[in-house]
Amino acid sequence: MGKTISAGTVIVGSGACGATIARELAKKGESVVVLEKGRDHTWPIGTPMAYATMYDIMKSREGIIVRRGVTTGGSTMVYSGNAYDPPGFINHELGIDLSQEVAETKGELNIRPVPEAFMENYTGTQRLVNAAGELGYAMKPQERFVDYEKCVPGCDSCLFGCRRGAKWTARNYLDDAVALGARLVTRCNVRKVLVSGNRAVGVMADTPSGTLRVGCNRVILSAGGIGSPEILRRSGIHEAGRRFFTDPMSVLVGVMKEGKGTFREMTFTVADASNGGEFVFGNTGAVNGFVAQIAALNLSFLRQGIHMKRLAGMFVKLCDDPVGSIDENGVFHKTFTRRDERTMAKGIKIATDVMTRAGVDASTISVAKGIGGHPGGTCAMGTVVDNTLRTSAGNLYVCDNSVMPKSGGIPPVLTLIALGKKFARTLDNKRGLNGKGL
Ligand SMILES: Cc1cc2nc3c(=O)[nH]c(=O)nc-3n(C[C@H](O)[C@H](O)[C@H](O)COP(=O)(O)OP(=O)(O)OC[C@H]3O[C@@H](n4cnc5c(N)ncnc54)[C@H](O)[C@@H]3O)c2cc1C
Repeated sequence: MGKTISAGTVIVGSGACGATIARELAKKGESVVVLEKGRDHTWPIGTPMAYATMYDIMKSREGIIVRRGVTTGGSTMVYSGNAYDPPGFINHELGIDLSQEVAETKGELNIRPVPEAFMENYTGTQRLVNAAGELGYAMKPQERFVDYEKCVPGCDSCLFGCRRGAKWTARNYLDDAVALGARLVTRCNVRKVLVSGNRAVGVMADTPSGTLRVGCNRVILSAGGIGSPEILRRSGIHEAGRRFFTDPMSVLVGVMKEGKGTFREMTFTVADASNGGEFVFGNTGAVNGFVAQIAALNLSFLRQGIHMKRLAGMFVKLCDDPVGSIDENGVFHKTFTRRDERTMAKGIKIATDVMTRAGVDASTISVAKGIGGHPGGTCAMGTVVDNTLRTSAGNLYVCDNSVMPKSGGIPPVLTLIALGKKFARTLDNKRGLNGKGL
C-alpha cells in the first residue's frame, strides 16, 4: 500500500549537508521534509557494533573498500571529527568564497585543536611526533569538532559514534531543524525523483510500510557521493555517477619493542598535511588500527598475537584521482591510478619510517591499504550541476560531497557545512554560489 504526503522542500539525506540545509530552511520558516535511508540508531553508538549497524561498507568491482554512515546524521556519526578549512580550489577555481560560513561554523561549534592536557596523556603519540620531528616532518595538533569538556581523553571511540555527545554530528543540526518544524522520515530509501517536463514534482521512496510518494515544489539531494548519483541516474540524469573519488586511507599498525603504543589514545589528534596536497599522515589509536586490519582482512597480522597495549598506529590519507564510476544500482568501479599508487607508497614509506624510529618493530607492521571514506565527485559542479547546484531539472538540486569536481585530499565536513549554509541562503538567488551568475 502506498502513502502520499506533501511538503515545500524535500531533502534527501540527513548527513553533513542535508541536516545543515534542513536547519537553515527551517529557520526561514519553510516547509521541509527530510527523508533518510538509515535508522535513528541509538544502542550501537560508541561500540564496535557500529560497524555492523551504522556503517555501510562497500567494495568496488576491483576490490577497493569504501565506508560511509547510513543512519540519521549520515557519515558524521562515524567520522573522526577532524575539521579542515576548505581546499584552495573551491575559492580559486570555482570562485566560491566560504570564508564567512567557515568562520561562523568554527565559532558556533567551538572548533579548536586537541588541548595540551589531552596530549600529555598520549605518550605513544608523542613518541611518533618526536620521531617525525627527527625525520624532518611536523605532526601538529589537529582542530576537531569536539567539545573537550564532555570528552574523555582515553576513549578513542569517535569512529564508533560518540556516546557522550562530545563530538559534533549532523544529528545536532537535524534536531534543531526538527525543533523548528522540519519533518523527518527515517528508514526511507529514496528510489527516484519524479520529473514532469523539466521540473521535479516529488520523490518516490521505499519504506518498511510500502511506497511513499512525497509531492513538493523543490527537491534537494544530499544523499552523499554514493546515494545522490544513484538517485539521479534512476531519475534519468545519466551524466551523474562519474568522476568518483574516495580519499583512500591506509592504516598501519605495529608492535612497540618497549613501552606503550597508542592504546587508548585518540585517533587523528596530530597530522602533517604539508605534502603538497598529495597526502596527509597522522596517528591512529591502537584499537582503530587493529579494526582497520580486520576490515581489510589482513588476518595474518593476528598470528603474532594481540599486544593491544603495545600497538602503535598511523594513517596516510590520499588525494586520489577522480576516475571511478557508480551506476543506478550502487555497483561501482574504482581503481587506483599509477599516480595514486605512487603517492600512497610514498606516504606509507614515511609512516613506516616514523613508526620504526619511534620504536615499533618493523617486522610487525601491517598495512590496511586504501580504504575510502570521503566519496564524492559523482554529481560534479560544471558537469551535473551548475554553480547554483541545480541539475537540468529546474527545481532539482544536489548539495553534498558529490558536487566537488575533485578531491581536496582533506576531511571535508567543515567545507560541506559551510557549503550547505551558503547554498541554503542563496537558494533562490540566480547569481549562484559564486555570485557570477549562470
Ligand atoms: C570512517 C570515516 C571517518 C571520517 N572522518 C572524517 C573527519 O574526521 N573529518 C571530516 O571532515 N570528514 C570525515 N569523514 C568524511 C565525512 O564524514 C563525509 O565526507 C561527509 O559526512 C559527507 O557528507 P555528505 O552530506 O556528502 O554525506 P553523508 O554525511 O554521508 O550523508 C548522506 C546521507 O544520505 C543518506 N542516504 C543515502 N542514500 C539515500 C537514499 N537513497 N534515500 C535516503 N537517504 C539516503 C545516508 O544514509 C546519509 O545519512 C569520515 C568518513 C568516514 C566514513
